Amino acid sequence: MVDVPANLEEVLKDAHLPALLTAMVHMTGDTSWLRPEWAPVYNPLDRTDIGIPPEVQDQARKAAAEAIRAHLGGKPLQMPGTDTPTLRRQMDFVSGAPIPEEYVDFLLDELTLSGKSTKDPQFDQPQLQAAARKLKVLVIGAGMTGLLAGIRLSQAGVPFEIVDKNADVGGTWFENTYPGCRVDNSNHMYSYSFEPNHAWPQHFSPQPVLLQYFQGIAKKYDLRRHIRFETLVEVVAWDDARSVWRATLKGPDGKTEVIEANAVITAVGQLNRPRMPDIEGVGTFEGPAFHSAEWRHDVDLKGKRVGVIGTGASAYQFVPEIAADVAQLTVFQRSPPWGLPVPHYHDNVPDNMKWVLEHVPYFDKWYRFYLFWSTTEGFLPMVKSDPTWNGGPGAVSPENAMFREQVIESYRAQMTVRPELLDKVIPNYPIGGKRAVLDNGVWLAALQRDNVELVTEKIAKITPKGIVTADGVEHEYDVLIYSTGFQASNFLAYLKVKGRGGRDLHETWGGDAKAYLGMTVPGFPNFFITYGPNTNIVVNGSIIFFSECSIRYIVGSLKLLAETGVRAMEPKQAVHDDFNRRVDEANAGWAWGSPHVSSWYKNSFGRVSQNWPFGLIDYWRATLAPNPDDFVLEKAPEPVA
Ligand code: NAP
Repeated sequence: MVDVPANLEEVLKDAHLPALLTAMVHMTGDTSWLRPEWAPVYNPLDRTDIGIPPEVQDQARKAAAEAIRAHLGGKPLQMPGTDTPTLRRQMDFVSGAPIPEEYVDFLLDELTLSGKSTKDPQFDQPQLQAAARKLKVLVIGAGMTGLLAGIRLSQAGVPFEIVDKNADVGGTWFENTYPGCRVDNSNHMYSYSFEPNHAWPQHFSPQPVLLQYFQGIAKKYDLRRHIRFETLVEVVAWDDARSVWRATLKGPDGKTEVIEANAVITAVGQLNRPRMPDIEGVGTFEGPAFHSAEWRHDVDLKGKRVGVIGTGASAYQFVPEIAADVAQLTVFQRSPPWGLPVPHYHDNVPDNMKWVLEHVPYFDKWYRFYLFWSTTEGFLPMVKSDPTWNGGPGAVSPENAMFREQVIESYRAQMTVRPELLDKVIPNYPIGGKRAVLDNGVWLAALQRDNVELVTEKIAKITPKGIVTADGVEHEYDVLIYSTGFQASNFLAYLKVKGRGGRDLHETWGGDAKAYLGMTVPGFPNFFITYGPNTNIVVNGSIIFFSECSIRYIVGSLKLLAETGVRAMEPKQAVHDDFNRRVDEANAGWAWGSPHVSSWYKNSFGRVSQNWPFGLIDYWRATLAPNPDDFVLEKAPEPVA
């Protein structure tokens, strides 16, 4: 029996009201909870503002509290959540806008009200299970996606081994330990769809909490016994005669070992190799100098003069953390980031909200649904390029321009101490051109501190003492921090991949990585890339969604092998080429594809090699299962009599 708090109405004040009212429909079987006067009208600049007068909110909460008391007192759920027309009304209500019809099956799958999803492996028949048991899969990486692969392969009954260069699981959440590092997608969405955590301490939790989550997942699914840590996969080479991959691993003792697998899944992320800037003199600085992804915790910054190069997502998080400690801080900015107002970015999840997540059935599902919709497809129209737009390079459409003005207004309101900096912090490229960061005021507050200077003059060179800018000024420092991003376009850097006939993957790509659905490449059979080319997102949502879809597709591909006795599959060249042509065309239609934007999403050829240019719904549909017609399938040879 659950202890219902005596002040339940008060407790409910901390729960997202539209999600709560939507959950009430299940509890009571009554759709009048979805009445128009209780429907949210969200404020795009502060989505915690639901646009309902406080006294009307109180009324709604009072009614909800009565229903919750009755339910927790023993009244059964009246509607378990299977009636599609009602679910559609619930979706519209919680989103504050009608959901287009074509999204319904996709969103119902994301909601997983029944606890089942298309992402669950389906390996029910004994014959299939027996064939699956004969496969062996090598997974490279034990971060968010590698662990997911392990979970799904276990569920499918496919033997596997995971190899990671690090000493523990977690990938990016293991490596990035800079001060202030935290997730920039709400945690109630940035978690596996099948592993909600009702106890996230913050809406956007810090790195140690994320690491703990993934360590907990490894434990719960008993994955560690499948993982080799501190081991680098140096080469994977396809053996044409036997149709297996041979992988050369280098262990912590420096010894190499070769293992074999029928299939390889790479789960190494896109942002795992720091990029040092191409500036004269890098490496000559005499004091401590390090990249933000390799934070030197042994370097005490207290009272030091510190120079930071870069103003991307990482700098945006650690600069406000270190600014008060250091004697003097210079931030070298090449282009400013867009900071979208998210006032609760650093806030704790109130205990009351945790209570509701844990005890009010379906509230967690509908809250996640609200986050999912509002921060993914619901946001996309803001960054779609209008081909008739002629309002300048700072926007791509009237809607994008209006949003730009609103965000600038929020900047203006923050620049009270040093208003002269305003022009420097307003990007000249459109919102959505690069990944925006979440603004709760700490970044601009840090830049306006007395001990902080924002330098926008180009860096000419790095010297033993500091940094010389193009105007000839030498800035001297005790410590230099490079926050200059990652070698993102260099997919699978450090992994040598030899496909059919010894063909080298990096030579095949020639610096312009492409894959079919971001996962498979002609000439590289049974080789599956996750978070591969053109599967990143700029504004719309969490990369966990992409990983879950990719792994569903890859496990579906293994099922195809097991079901048909096919021993190798690779995409047809025409299918691969046609897909990439469509991707390139579509990327041009978004803010990040604008010719006025230069970013790490574009490779050295200027091609957007990182981003998925369609909706999440399109990736979901494309990855439901592999289409055998898209592949060249190599049957096992008939046994010789
Ligand atoms: P980033 O966004 O690529 O930022 C690199 C910064 O360094 C940019 O400001 C860039 O300027 C600047 N820069 C690069 N080369 C330079 C040079 N030669 N001279 C001067 N400035 C130079 O890297 P990041 O901040 O590490 O973030 C990378 C990605 O990681 C993010 O987009 C995000 O996807 C992910 N991330 C996520 C989180 C999170 O909240 N969960 C946190 C950190 C990172 P330009 O903009 O002019 O190129």
